Amino acid sequence: MQRQLQIIPIPAFKDNYIWLMHNGIDAVAVDPGDAEPLQRTLRALNLNLVAILITHHHQDHIGGVEALIKQFPQINVFAPKLEHYDFKHTPVSEPDRFACADWLPEIDVLDLPGHTLGHVGFYMAQPGQKWLFCGDTLFGAGCGRLFEGTPLQMLTSLQKLAALPEETLVYCTHEYTLHNINFALSIEPNNHVLIQRRQDTQDLRNTESPSLPSTIALELASNPFLRCNSKQIQSTLHLENQPLLEVFTKIRSLRNHY
Ligand code: ZN
Ligand code: FE
Repeated sequence: MQRQLQIIPIPAFKDNYIWLMHNGIDAVAVDPGDAEPLQRTLRALNLNLVAILITHHHQDHIGGVEALIKQFPQINVFAPKLEHYDFKHTPVSEPDRFACADWLPEIDVLDLPGHTLGHVGFYMAQPGQKWLFCGDTLFGAGCGRLFEGTPLQMLTSLQKLAALPEETLVYCTHEYTLHNINFALSIEPNNHVLIQRRQDTQDLRNTESPSLPSTIALELASNPFLRCNSKQIQSTLHLENQPLLEVFTKIRSLRNHY
C-alpha cells in the first residue's frame, strides 16, 4: 500500500549513512557506498529501487552502485557532471532540476565544490517541507575535508547551503556530529545552542540513534564553519575582525588535527 514519503538511514561501514527515500513501494537511495546493507533493507521492506543519487566520487559513496545496477537494470543513476564515473548515469550540475520518481518533488542540483571539485547536493521542496542531501559538504556541526577544493570554494558552498530556508532538513552522509560538537566547543565554549546540542546528541548516540537529520537553523546556530563571524570564535583564534575566509581556513585546519 502506498504511504507518505519516508526517509530512513541505513548505516554502512563505520560511520556512513545511506539515506533511503521511499513510499512503501519504490525507493531512491543517496550515496550507496555499500550494496549489501541497502539490499537487506529493500528486501525487508519489500521495496523496488528506482533511482540512485550520487553526491561525489569517493568510494564510500559509490561502492555499491555497480551491484545495484545489476540487480535493478532499469534504475536511473544521477551523478555529478564534473566527475568521472564508470557506471551508466545521467550527469547533473547546477542549475539542473530533474524528477526521479512521481511520488517525489523535483530535485534541484546545487554545485558544492570543496570536498571534491565536482561535489553536488540535492535539494527538494514542497509546501511545508524541505530536504537537503549534502554528502560530505555540510556535517552536523562540521564540514567535509578539503581533498580537492580550496577553502574559498568550500566556504562559498557552505554559504550557499546556509542561505537555504532555515527549516530545511539536512541529511549528511557521516555520523561525525558528536566529535564535531566537541571541537566546536573548544573554540566557542559559551555557545548555549552548542552546549544543548552536545547533550541532545549524546542522548541520541547513547541509544545508537542517528544525530541526523539536522536543520539549517540548527547548523546556523551551532556549526563553527557557518559561524566565522562569531565574536567568540574570532577571539579564541586571535582573528578579531579578520576576513571570513581567513577565519574559516583557520577553523578547518584546527579541525584537521583535532
Ligand atoms: Zn567523501
Ligand atoms: Fe564520505
